[in-house]
Amino acid sequence: MKTAVITGASSGIGEGCARLLARSGWKVFLMARRRERLENIAREINGHAIILDVTKAQEVEIGLVTHCDLLVNCAGGALGLDAVRQANADDWTSMFNTNVLGTLRMTQLLLPRLIASQGCIINITSTAALGGYEGGGGYCAAKSAQRALTQSLRLEMKGVPVRITEVLPGMVHTPEFSLNRFCGDAERAKAVYENVDRPLSAEDIAQVVATVAELPAHVNVDEIVVRPVAQRAQHALFRGSLGWREAPPVAHSPVNEGER
Ligand code: NDP
Repeated sequence: MKTAVITGASSGIGEGCARLLARSGWKVFLMARRRERLENIAREINGHAIILDVTKAQEVEIGLVTHCDLLVNCAGGALGLDAVRQANADDWTSMFNTNVLGTLRMTQLLLPRLIASQGCIINITSTAALGGYEGGGGYCAAKSAQRALTQSLRLEMKGVPVRITEVLPGMVHTPEFSLNRFCGDAERAKAVYENVDRPLSAEDIAQVVATVAELPAHVNVDEIVVRPVAQRAQHALFRGSLGWREAPPVAHSPVNEGER
């Protein structure tokens, strides 16, 4: 049985990855800060919850992870949509801490085990890492930095059989991402996805993660940009019906339904 560590597993994409990998036979360690949510999900999938903050994680907290084949650095997110001229520096610090330094910290902690297992690291960055957009200064900067970290690490692992992949999702409709971005303003969060005909779901990204992780050990997918068909580019989002003939995929878990 292979072992996966997934940060940000109490919600959204991380939760989707944990559920899908567990269904596919992986032993899963789920990590995040909110105890009750994380423990409930872990119980449902026979996984192991480790309550931690990726920005402060220490070896003693991950002692239970004696072996690791896959690290998915998913903890992160966006705060605010302010123009640079009026941006909140505390929000930028927080985004940088979670998305970049959290990825750094978890990678440093688990790298020895990943080298021992000839394993795989998958960092969830964003299409925001590919260029700026209005109001995205802080998030784009943080995701670009997380992307740069991933690229440097891959090169530094020259001669070491560890795979390093960056997954860059476009619009993924998860229950909390936009809610957090807009400080709990549900109307504003809802408007992000209004009339978008099938944004990506957490499970879509989980399928990409699982596919990459289960490739043969010598196959390194460097990076994958994944967008919904409705979003041809960051600024080319189509709102309206796409006239799909196929029924939408059946969700395996509440993460796709926003049921909680
Ligand atoms: P969610 O807000 O649903 O999930 C974020 C997760 O990160 C939660 O489980 C949260 O758990 C965890 N987290 C946040 N801060 C910390 C911390 N300091 N320590 C430990 N865990 C933390 O967002 P998504 O699932 O939508 O996003 C997941 C990742 O994908 C993020 O990195 C995001 O930037 C990226 N992404 C999302 C896109 C989208 O459209 N949704 C698009 C592109 C990329 P807890 O609060 O319990 O700690």
